[in-house]
Amino acid sequence: MEIPFAESYKIKMVEPIYRSAREQRQQWIKDARYNLFNLRSEQVYIDLLTDSGTGAMSHNQWAALMTGDESYAGSSSYYNLKNAIQELLGFEHFLPTHQGRAAENVLFSVWVKKGNVVPGNSHFDTTKGHIEFRDASAIDCTIDEAFDTGSQHPFKGNLDLLKLEEVYKNHHREEIPMVIVTLTCNTSGGQPVSMHNLREVHKMSNKYGIPVVFDSARFAENAWFIKEREPGYADKSIRQIVTEMFSYADVMTMSSKKDGIVNIGGFIAMRDKELFKQSSVFNIMYEGFNTYGGMAGRDMNALAVGLHEVTTEHYLETRIRQVEFLGNKLLTWGIPIQNPIGGHAVFIDAKHFLEYVPKEEFVAQTLAIELYLEAGVRGVEVGTLLADRDPHTKENRYPKLEMLRLAIPRRTYTNNHMEVVAVALKNIYDRRDSIRHGYKIVSEAPIMRHFSVELGPVIA
Ligand SMILES: *Cc1c(COP(=O)(O)O)cnc(C)c1O
Repeated sequence: MEIPFAESYKIKMVEPIYRSAREQRQQWIKDARYNLFNLRSEQVYIDLLTDSGTGAMSHNQWAALMTGDESYAGSSSYYNLKNAIQELLGFEHFLPTHQGRAAENVLFSVWVKKGNVVPGNSHFDTTKGHIEFRDASAIDCTIDEAFDTGSQHPFKGNLDLLKLEEVYKNHHREEIPMVIVTLTCNTSGGQPVSMHNLREVHKMSNKYGIPVVFDSARFAENAWFIKEREPGYADKSIRQIVTEMFSYADVMTMSSKKDGIVNIGGFIAMRDKELFKQSSVFNIMYEGFNTYGGMAGRDMNALAVGLHEVTTEHYLETRIRQVEFLGNKLLTWGIPIQNPIGGHAVFIDAKHFLEYVPKEEFVAQTLAIELYLEAGVRGVEVGTLLADRDPHTKENRYPKLEMLRLAIPRRTYTNNHMEVVAVALKNIYDRRDSIRHGYKIVSEAPIMRHFSVELGPVIA
């Protein structure tokens, strides 16, 4: 017999989690105003809200924590991280920030002006938020296949070069501060961008004089998919692939809470010294002095180790296989999910799952609530609530995809947990036709409303 696959780690420390009863969950979700962000973590059995900052650090990362240097200026931990970024990602300059959106805030403070347009592949919500907050707009240039959940396109994070060139031709150079390529593309389902596409975006942007920024939260998962799916890369190492990927970027922003495998942190890295200087001004104002910028020395140490671990084949194989394990279970039962299965999450196609819930009643959120009630599993809506209202018309924006995202924390749950999640969804799928109504908004914030929105059932 072939020896089966198993995780490339063993467990040294455990954290107990508890199952609850449906009646308890009914009360808790009501008290939370049907917003899963308002639940307390102990009210959740398996937490797939996000893979952000929820991963388990390795023993080497915990060891690095203990040798962190908390000097205000010139900390050795800063230099450990600087060396890791230079060696693995190839950027000479970097600024630590407290998380990914802080990196965006600092960079956009230098570059984004009122009335600007920023093309990209389905910008992440904080990225879009920071652009729109500055009265600029994000233009989505993702390929059309990304919005067809049945399509097996291997690189659904790709930018459509024709759409991108359209933006470049229709605006003055000064109106376009950058193009942002998100790796992997979260909003379209954790879908990778091909090396070919990165190369072409870089080439075209160079021609028009537009800097290329990689929003790099899941760069290592992206590299894994290039190795698996793109001709010519099977024999290259993950490190080689990562080096080539970043050779097509002028700047990167990073949420270290994802592929840094740490619980908090971020950074901006760039080649241009002048941009580094300009960004430093904002970094010092918003984050902290350049050699810590919002991060403790110990956290910078753990991140340096995390960047080394995340760029290894054995780490990535375990990671991607677990996500596939959950996705494949759902597929065998005919549950509609985004295909191919993404790198950090399984995305359930809520519109095809709950066909009778009207779009005005927040279909993916309705499914998220059902899943919580069924088994105490917390996912997150990536749909109409997340898409917010149009800043001008104030109307709800109905995105092409209405998804329930089940994000899998790194090195945290076992495949038995994945089984629980899969069976809970199967139970809901079996009774899907009885679910006819969803939820209505009781109150909401003017921007990034999904975090704090309060809802009530349409049929009480
Ligand atoms: C998480 C994330 C961000 C924002 O990072 P935070 O650390 O949550 O502030 C930006 N872009 C992408 C693609 C992300 O996944």
